[in-house]
Amino acid sequence: MKAFIGLGSNLGDREAMIRMALDDLARLPSTRLVRASSLYDTEAVGDAEQPNFLNAVAQIDTELTARQLLWNLQLVEKRLGRVRAQRWGPRTIDLDLLIYGNLVVEEPDLRVPHPELARRSFVLVPLVELDPLLTHPVTGETLVSLLSSLKTRPPTKCGNRLWN
Ligand code: ADP
Ligand code: MG
Repeated sequence: MKAFIGLGSNLGDREAMIRMALDDLARLPSTRLVRASSLYDTEAVGDAEQPNFLNAVAQIDTELTARQLLWNLQLVEKRLGRVRAQRWGPRTIDLDLLIYGNLVVEEPDLRVPHPELARRSFVLVPLVELDPLLTHPVTGETLVSLLSSLKTRPPTKCGNRLWN
Protein backbone atom coordinates (compact mmCIF):
# COMPACT_ATOMS: atom_id res chain seq x y z
CA MET A 1 0.00 0.00 0.00
CA LYS A 2 1.14 3.53 -0.76
CA ALA A 3 1.21 5.59 2.44
CA PHE A 4 2.47 9.01 3.52
CA ILE A 5 3.98 9.81 6.92
CA GLY A 6 4.31 13.32 8.32
CA LEU A 7 7.48 14.02 10.32
CA GLY A 8 7.90 16.98 12.65
CA SER A 9 10.45 18.11 15.24
CA ASN A 10 10.86 21.27 17.28
CA LEU A 11 13.22 20.24 20.06
CA GLY A 12 16.94 19.54 19.93
CA ASP A 13 18.74 19.00 16.62
CA ARG A 14 15.60 19.01 14.49
CA GLU A 15 17.22 17.92 11.24
CA ALA A 16 19.09 15.06 12.92
CA MET A 17 15.81 13.89 14.47
CA ILE A 18 14.07 13.87 11.08
CA ARG A 19 17.00 12.01 9.51
CA MET A 20 17.02 9.38 12.26
CA ALA A 21 13.27 8.92 11.94
CA LEU A 22 13.66 8.42 8.17
CA ASP A 23 16.38 5.82 8.80
CA ASP A 24 13.98 4.04 11.13
CA LEU A 25 11.16 4.21 8.56
CA ALA A 26 13.51 2.68 5.98
CA ARG A 27 14.04 -0.26 8.35
CA LEU A 28 10.40 -1.03 9.15
CA PRO A 29 9.36 -4.60 8.38
CA SER A 30 7.64 -5.24 5.03
CA THR A 31 8.12 -1.59 4.14
CA ARG A 32 10.14 0.37 1.60
CA LEU A 33 10.93 4.04 2.00
CA VAL A 34 10.19 5.38 -1.49
CA ARG A 35 11.15 9.04 -1.05
CA ALA A 36 11.08 11.95 1.32
CA SER A 37 10.31 15.60 0.72
CA SER A 38 12.47 18.63 1.35
CA LEU A 39 12.59 20.07 4.85
CA TYR A 40 10.23 22.91 5.75
CA ASP A 41 10.45 25.36 8.61
CA THR A 42 7.03 26.01 10.15
CA GLU A 43 5.66 28.21 12.88
CA ALA A 44 4.11 26.10 15.65
CA VAL A 45 0.32 25.86 15.74
CA GLY A 46 -1.56 26.19 19.01
CA ASP A 47 -1.31 28.87 21.64
CA ALA A 48 1.80 27.76 23.52
CA GLU A 49 4.83 29.90 22.73
CA GLN A 50 7.21 27.32 21.32
CA PRO A 51 10.04 26.93 18.80
CA ASN A 52 9.42 26.49 15.07
CA PHE A 53 8.98 23.01 13.70
CA LEU A 54 10.98 21.36 11.00
CA ASN A 55 8.60 19.27 8.88
CA ALA A 56 8.89 16.75 6.08
CA VAL A 57 6.77 14.01 4.53
CA ALA A 58 7.88 10.48 3.60
CA GLN A 59 6.28 8.21 1.05
CA ILE A 60 6.42 4.51 1.82
CA ASP A 61 5.27 1.32 0.21
CA THR A 62 4.18 -1.08 2.95
CA GLU A 63 2.47 -4.36 3.59
CA LEU A 64 1.77 -3.39 7.20
CA THR A 65 -1.83 -2.53 8.04
CA ALA A 66 -2.61 1.07 9.00
CA ARG A 67 -2.76 0.04 12.64
CA GLN A 68 0.52 -1.91 12.51
CA LEU A 69 2.04 1.15 10.91
CA LEU A 70 0.74 3.41 13.70
CA TRP A 71 2.28 1.10 16.35
CA ASN A 72 5.57 1.20 14.52
CA LEU A 73 5.48 4.99 14.28
CA GLN A 74 4.89 5.17 18.02
CA LEU A 75 7.85 2.83 18.63
CA VAL A 76 10.07 5.11 16.57
CA GLU A 77 8.80 8.15 18.53
CA LYS A 78 9.70 6.38 21.79
CA ARG A 79 13.09 5.30 20.51
CA LEU A 80 13.93 8.84 19.49
CA GLY A 81 13.13 10.07 22.96
CA ARG A 82 9.80 11.72 22.52
CA VAL A 83 8.37 12.66 25.89
CA ARG A 84 4.63 13.21 25.86
CA ALA A 85 4.22 16.25 28.03
CA GLN A 86 1.51 18.48 26.67
CA ARG A 87 -0.61 17.91 23.59
CA TRP A 88 0.67 20.13 20.79
CA GLY A 89 3.67 20.95 22.98
CA PRO A 90 7.31 20.84 21.86
CA ARG A 91 8.55 17.39 20.83
CA THR A 92 11.75 15.82 19.57
CA ILE A 93 9.80 13.90 16.96
CA ASP A 94 6.17 13.56 15.89
CA LEU A 95 5.17 10.95 13.32
CA ASP A 96 1.67 11.07 11.88
CA LEU A 97 0.06 8.68 9.45
CA LEU A 98 -1.33 11.12 6.88
CA ILE A 99 -2.65 8.94 4.07
CA TYR A 100 -2.89 5.18 3.65
CA GLY A 101 -4.04 4.46 0.10
CA ASN A 102 -7.69 5.43 -0.04
CA LEU A 103 -8.42 3.94 3.37
CA VAL A 104 -10.74 5.84 5.71
CA VAL A 105 -10.61 5.00 9.45
CA GLU A 106 -12.53 6.91 12.13
CA GLU A 107 -11.55 5.42 15.49
CA PRO A 108 -10.54 7.16 18.72
CA ASP A 109 -6.87 6.20 18.46
CA LEU A 110 -6.57 6.09 14.67
CA ARG A 111 -8.00 8.49 12.13
CA VAL A 112 -7.01 8.19 8.49
CA PRO A 113 -6.62 10.31 6.48
CA HIS A 114 -5.19 12.53 9.22
CA PRO A 115 -8.02 14.87 10.34
CA GLU A 116 -5.89 18.01 10.08
CA LEU A 117 -4.54 17.17 6.64
CA ALA A 118 -6.69 19.59 4.69
CA ARG A 119 -5.94 22.50 7.05
CA ARG A 120 -2.16 22.24 7.42
CA SER A 121 0.02 23.78 4.76
CA PHE A 122 3.09 22.19 6.36
CA VAL A 123 1.83 18.74 5.37
CA LEU A 124 0.08 19.74 2.13
CA VAL A 125 3.15 21.48 0.67
CA PRO A 126 5.53 18.51 1.11
CA LEU A 127 2.80 16.06 0.00
CA VAL A 128 2.30 18.04 -3.21
CA GLU A 129 6.07 18.19 -3.67
CA LEU A 130 6.17 14.38 -3.59
CA ASP A 131 3.07 13.84 -5.74
CA PRO A 132 1.23 16.80 -7.30
CA LEU A 133 -1.66 14.57 -8.39
CA LEU A 134 -2.62 13.39 -4.90
CA THR A 135 -6.25 13.75 -3.91
CA HIS A 136 -7.95 13.75 -0.52
CA PRO A 137 -9.25 10.19 0.06
CA VAL A 138 -12.54 11.42 1.53
CA THR A 139 -13.49 14.48 -0.51
CA GLY A 140 -11.63 13.66 -3.73
CA GLU A 141 -10.31 17.22 -3.96
CA THR A 142 -6.76 17.58 -5.20
CA LEU A 143 -4.29 18.55 -2.49
CA VAL A 144 -3.20 21.38 -4.77
CA SER A 145 -6.70 22.87 -4.63
CA LEU A 146 -6.92 22.38 -0.85
CA LEU A 147 -3.62 24.21 -0.53
CA SER A 148 -4.72 27.12 -2.69
CA SER A 149 -7.77 27.67 -0.47
CA LEU A 150 -5.68 27.95 2.72
CA LYS A 151 -5.05 31.40 4.11
CA THR A 152 -2.21 30.44 6.43
CA ARG A 153 1.35 31.35 5.60
CA PRO A 154 3.06 28.52 3.69
CA PRO A 155 6.09 26.87 5.33
CA THR A 156 9.56 27.94 4.23
CA LYS A 157 11.60 25.38 2.31
CA CYS A 158 14.92 25.08 4.05
CA GLY A 159 16.70 22.00 2.81
CA ASN A 160 17.01 19.59 -0.06
CA ARG A 161 15.31 16.27 -0.41
CA LEU A 162 16.52 13.85 2.21
CA TRP A 163 15.76 10.64 0.34
CA ASN A 164 15.75 10.21 -3.48
P1 ADP B 1 -0.55 15.43 17.41
O1 ADP B 1 0.19 14.57 16.45
O2 ADP B 1 -2.00 15.59 17.08
O3 ADP B 1 0.12 16.73 17.69
P2 ADP B 1 0.04 13.37 19.32
O4 ADP B 1 1.12 12.89 18.38
O5 ADP B 1 0.41 13.53 20.73
O6 ADP B 1 -0.56 14.72 18.83
O7 ADP B 1 -1.22 12.46 19.20
C1 ADP B 1 -1.02 11.15 19.21
C2 ADP B 1 -2.32 10.41 19.26
O8 ADP B 1 -3.06 10.58 18.06
C3 ADP B 1 -2.01 8.97 19.40
O9 ADP B 1 -2.46 8.52 20.64
C4 ADP B 1 -2.70 8.29 18.25
O10 ADP B 1 -3.43 7.15 18.66
C5 ADP B 1 -3.64 9.35 17.72
N1 ADP B 1 -3.83 9.30 16.27
C6 ADP B 1 -5.03 9.21 15.64
N2 ADP B 1 -4.90 9.20 14.32
C7 ADP B 1 -3.57 9.26 14.08
C8 ADP B 1 -2.80 9.27 12.87
N3 ADP B 1 -3.39 9.21 11.65
N4 ADP B 1 -1.46 9.34 12.98
C9 ADP B 1 -0.87 9.43 14.20
N5 ADP B 1 -1.54 9.41 15.39
C10 ADP B 1 -2.88 9.33 15.33
MG1 MG C 1 1.30 12.79 16.30
